[in-house]
Amino acid sequence: MGPESALTTAKPTPIPTQEEDPSHQSTSLLTFSTEVPSSPPHKPTATAIFIALILVTCAALSAASAFAFLFLSPGKSAHRPSIKDGQAARSLKKLDHPVVLLISADGFRFGYQYKAPTPNIRRLIANGTEAETGLIPVFPTLTFPNHYSIVTGLYPAYHGIINNNFVDPRSGAVFNMGSHDPKWWLGEPMWETLANQGLKAATYFWPGSEVIKGSWDCPKGFCMPYNGSVPFEDRVDTILSYFDLPSSEIPEFLTLYFEDPDHQGHLVGPDDLQVTEAVAHIDGLIGRLIGGLEKRGVFEDVTIIMVGDHGMVGNCDKKLIFLEDLAEWIKIPAEWVSDYTPALSIRPSKDVDPTEVVAKMNEGLRSGKVKNGKNLKMYLKEDLPRRLHYSDSERIPPIIGMLDEGFKVEPKRTAAQECGGSHGYDNAFFSMRTIFIAHGPRFGRGVKVPSFENVQIYNVIASILNVPGAPNNGSWSFPRSILLPEA
Ligand SMILES: [Zn+2]
Repeated sequence: MGPESALTTAKPTPIPTQEEDPSHQSTSLLTFSTEVPSSPPHKPTATAIFIALILVTCAALSAASAFAFLFLSPGKSAHRPSIKDGQAARSLKKLDHPVVLLISADGFRFGYQYKAPTPNIRRLIANGTEAETGLIPVFPTLTFPNHYSIVTGLYPAYHGIINNNFVDPRSGAVFNMGSHDPKWWLGEPMWETLANQGLKAATYFWPGSEVIKGSWDCPKGFCMPYNGSVPFEDRVDTILSYFDLPSSEIPEFLTLYFEDPDHQGHLVGPDDLQVTEAVAHIDGLIGRLIGGLEKRGVFEDVTIIMVGDHGMVGNCDKKLIFLEDLAEWIKIPAEWVSDYTPALSIRPSKDVDPTEVVAKMNEGLRSGKVKNGKNLKMYLKEDLPRRLHYSDSERIPPIIGMLDEGFKVEPKRTAAQECGGSHGYDNAFFSMRTIFIAHGPRFGRGVKVPSFENVQIYNVIASILNVPGAPNNGSWSFPRSILLPEA
């Protein structure tokens, strides 16, 4: 073992859950309220009368607004189902245990489901539960950090995959998207949770799935080594083939991953026809999946959770900020920069005070002399907004720059004038949101829920599968707010 072995024990602890994390309050506008209403306390009579008066007023007001809605809204019905409507979990017809199929369409920005005719995705939405204004990714809104947050319930600072590429400051070891050494991958992904409890999982690609951890040994035939050239149809067909196994051998948890429409979004930006076509293709694959499950008589038994990892925003080279423009205030050597854009990440050499670097960079950026300077703000990581949860790991460089939507940072001026798309920005930007669409026995039909962060999904899956989950940043009460009660 080399010096890097220290990393395996350098697990960032403790892991705050949302109930105990005080910073959660700052995210409450973004996240789904997880408070389960408790029975009201007994009130004295005067208070009761006052409350009754308020209730009558409220009832009158809501009746008035309901009428207004009925007459003014173009929709067919003013009634929107919620899980409080008395729906209860449906029992399994054919399978002898619950099965969750987690599907990721990379870079499926919230709203793409309206870009093309998507009859199959719409079928899942109409008969399932959807985050009405999308799923909120974690910061940075990049592929590897987010996919691993979805399956661990942890923010990147706690699961260790703080970027798609980064350097461990202790050992100098480099993480990239092909790194499978468990020293990088902290936390407990769902496939490991299940393997540790003697249950089965199958992964048709997912960041981290090839990492041998705990009882998860990436079993042959049930854990596909990543190969982006495998046709999407083949991936769907392999997932379907697991349902031909005897019921007791069907894995409890399956993952399915598609690189699109992220691929097209980067090339041409989110508004191009190529993205529309990619979305239609993904919808066709969902149709192939539904058809295969129906043929096997298990469509209503299987829980399908369809998500993306992040959104996409268009950017053009006129929205650039060049670090060389800051030379009058401070020179930033290339060796200090671990990521230029969109999460500008800087680790200065040891003899340089990061506070001073931040101060000088911000002075230059605000001087009015740096092109687009006002669209970048530098922070010591511990001073970043708490809602980003992006400081509690030594892997995160000490200085982070936050960019306005669609802007990019480059070291020096170039003649490039390309336009395309990117992601990785502040997860508060609506363009970074993705989808959450869930269909299955524990999800209400036609239910809309408010947006929530993807770290909640691990606990939802653990609840559906009736397994105790590992400690994570999600809220233990969240599943009750989104799942139908068991019959
Ligand atoms: Zn991605």
